[in-house]
Amino acid sequence: MAEVLVLVDHVDGKVRKTTAELLTIARRLGEPSAVFVGAGFDAAKESLARFGAEKVYRVESPEVLEHLVVPQAELLAQLVASTSPAAVLVPASPEGKEIAARLAVKTESGLITDAVDVQAGDGGVATTQSVFAGSYTVTATVTKGTPIVAVKPNSATPEEAAGAAADEVVDFTPSDAAKGARITESKPKQATGRPELTEAAIVVSGGRGTGGDFSKVEDFADSLGAAVGASRAAVDAGWYPHTSQVGQTGKQVSPQLYVACGISGAIQHRAGMQTSKTIVAVNKDNEAPIFELVDFGVVGDLFNVLPQATEAIKAA
Ligand code: FAD
Repeated sequence: MAEVLVLVDHVDGKVRKTTAELLTIARRLGEPSAVFVGAGFDAAKESLARFGAEKVYRVESPEVLEHLVVPQAELLAQLVASTSPAAVLVPASPEGKEIAARLAVKTESGLITDAVDVQAGDGGVATTQSVFAGSYTVTATVTKGTPIVAVKPNSATPEEAAGAAADEVVDFTPSDAAKGARITESKPKQATGRPELTEAAIVVSGGRGTGGDFSKVEDFADSLGAAVGASRAAVDAGWYPHTSQVGQTGKQVSPQLYVACGISGAIQHRAGMQTSKTIVAVNKDNEAPIFELVDFGVVGDLFNVLPQATEAIKAA
């Protein structure tokens, strides 16, 4: 069975949920082989094996991660040449999409980004893409070279399957051209203890309706183990960090559940969240456009509704 290369997304060996999703998808297409770059392999190995990685190609040299994403595209191109995989799967993060694009050029292969479903198809992979901020669903397949697919978070439910995770250290040195830019400093974000916005299964967002007080939105999010997002109005007012903005000029999220609190539902906000599986809104204006989009709507003041919902969830 042909290998399917999966680029592992991790922080010091703590493997992100998106990698478990990609390994689950990879098993539909062939035999999953993880590609692990950086330190922390010992910590990652168990997770990779648990989600079915049969092999792990790894490169420990810190040099690979010092030069942004270009060396990773070179590494994957080297592995494509040596393993002739059935497909290469990467997370559809900004970094993942850049790696995928560079890899497609290097290997003269077709590339599909923002896939929300990937299955084995006639002569290769059959993908479903969400495009124009979720306004259209497109089915596509790669007709040239090795299928390279950037998959959106939450596109598959991670399923466990024992894999050997047999590791193989790859002899790889980035070219001089790949070392054209270097990271000079990297500071971790202040930890909130909440999941990352783009990969969270539940997102609770607040808008101008919070009046700048996000405490009820945060309490509700914490009762659900959710990430906290914000509309641009809230971000522009300085009430919440820019990194939490959801929408056309913010982050695109596609969680199982999205709860919009005090958000009107402008087209630019929808562009970042309308592919969420279930959408709930809390808004005191029953004519707010967000209600055209929702699966469940609550007409009410978020300062009354959210504390009651938080208490009910805590009591459940
Ligand atoms: P409002 O539209 O002011 O809505 C506030 C809502 O809160 C109202 O519906 C009101 O009824 C309700 N409310 C008030 N008080 C309460 C209460 N106590 N309880 C319950 N409900 C209450 N916006 C984004 O979000 N993301 C983007 O990425 C983005 N990109 C943009 C790009 C461009 C080029 C442009 C032009 C705009 C962009 N916008 C974006 C802005 C967008 O057009 C809207 O202005 C913005 O989304 C409005 O934010 P809001 O819903 O929080 O505020």
